[in-house]
Amino acid sequence: MATASKVEYEPVIGLEVHVQLKTATKMFCGCAVQFGVPANSLTCPVCLGLPGALPMVNRQAVEYGIRIGLALNCQIAHRIKFDRKNYFYPDLPKGYQISQYDEPLCFDGELQLPIHDTSGQPKICRITRAHLEEDAGKSIHMDGSTLVDLNRAGTPLVEIVGGPDLRSPEEAYVYLNTLKRNLSYLGVSDLSMEKGSLRCDANVSIRPKGQEKFGVRSEIKNLNSFRAVRAALEHEIKRHTEVLEGGGSLSQQTLLWDEEKLETRPMRSKEEATDYRFFPEPDLATFDVPREWVEKVRATLPEMPEKRLLRFLDDYKLSEQDAVYLVGDKALAEFYEAAIKLMDEPKKVAAWVVGEVTRELNDRNIGIEELQVSPAELIELIKLLDAGKLNNITAKEVFHGMAEEGAGALETAKKLNKLIEQDEGAMDAAIAEVIEEFKDKAVADFKNGEQKALGFLIGQCMRKLKGKANPKELGPKIAKAING
Ligand SMILES: [Zn+2]
Repeated sequence: MATASKVEYEPVIGLEVHVQLKTATKMFCGCAVQFGVPANSLTCPVCLGLPGALPMVNRQAVEYGIRIGLALNCQIAHRIKFDRKNYFYPDLPKGYQISQYDEPLCFDGELQLPIHDTSGQPKICRITRAHLEEDAGKSIHMDGSTLVDLNRAGTPLVEIVGGPDLRSPEEAYVYLNTLKRNLSYLGVSDLSMEKGSLRCDANVSIRPKGQEKFGVRSEIKNLNSFRAVRAALEHEIKRHTEVLEGGGSLSQQTLLWDEEKLETRPMRSKEEATDYRFFPEPDLATFDVPREWVEKVRATLPEMPEKRLLRFLDDYKLSEQDAVYLVGDKALAEFYEAAIKLMDEPKKVAAWVVGEVTRELNDRNIGIEELQVSPAELIELIKLLDAGKLNNITAKEVFHGMAEEGAGALETAKKLNKLIEQDEGAMDAAIAEVIEEFKDKAVADFKNGEQKALGFLIGQCMRKLKGKANPKELGPKIAKAING
């Protein structure tokens, strides 16, 4: 039996990300956009789809859409046109969703990823389009029945469609994190996957390496975290490969990811655009997007992470790892920059922010905005450490206390009794005691040239002084006391 030579397959991945906009009111009516309030309390004739109710466009939502488009280097359309996407679903009371079909608000953009392609250039993923639409309501399945909550119906969304440019589940994971990071700089969404304000569908196919034509595609839905996206893509690529290697054929379909069983299951055969019977929304006239408006929005964009990263590397000479980390969170990067305005030691301050500050945030599961330590207080602490009033260990303890109590560095150090008073007498007494105690062991070893023994003696003195001493000062003093 002849064995066919093994074909090497390449995945082709494209992601669609839905971003719920943080506007005060819904896309086409005055109902508030709010999470966690009683079901169906935020509804009106427009978002309930009652006959005769007419939609009005939310200007803020359009502006947020433009903001997203500009931040993703997109072209912005010259006019806004909405279309009806018709389908039936229990949580879609109108029987259609107002979306944008052939004229998306934003198109032809790109996102630069912090990874490199095979030629060593930064990997770029195209942004095919980003368009405005309204969200559907929510079906809640429980005890064999289904309840419908329409609070979410009509919430503004931007759907960001990435190009088929990603070649591995890991690249998809990086893309999502980078997209989320960039969107977080814009302040247009709370970007919570838990609350559903950030949702992702993944399209994946495989093709023999070198082949231009795309393979048969699966669309995976119900992905509740970026990790789930990565896992689902890995699973689906493996499944496709096995089917093709076994001589089988694939059909285009929509799948649901089962988070518990870690497998995909069919939801429906994939619908085509024609199934939705798109047509121009008759209740909304098209309107122009003046270039002055676009430029005004552009002028309000913050410094975006790609640019900030280069500046942090150039101006502050940070390691790439630290710079990428700091830039990853806009508020953290701003905390850092506020701190180094008060102390011109970028690397030293970065070590604190990346280290102890981050540890504290993770322990408390909070963002930097909620930390009870200001940049000025952090610098006050670092200055106490530099002045020898704290050592590396007590400085961390004091920082922890500051985060706990929300008090300044000196006040906290005093309160926790960690401040090193220059009590020469106590220090000398401790050294004398330790030397006497360990004269046969560590002291003798040190005399024989074992430097390690000095570290041990410093530790013993620190214990006697209850940590209220600077090991850097203790070392030479102990050496002097031993050697005379
Ligand atoms: Zn409403």
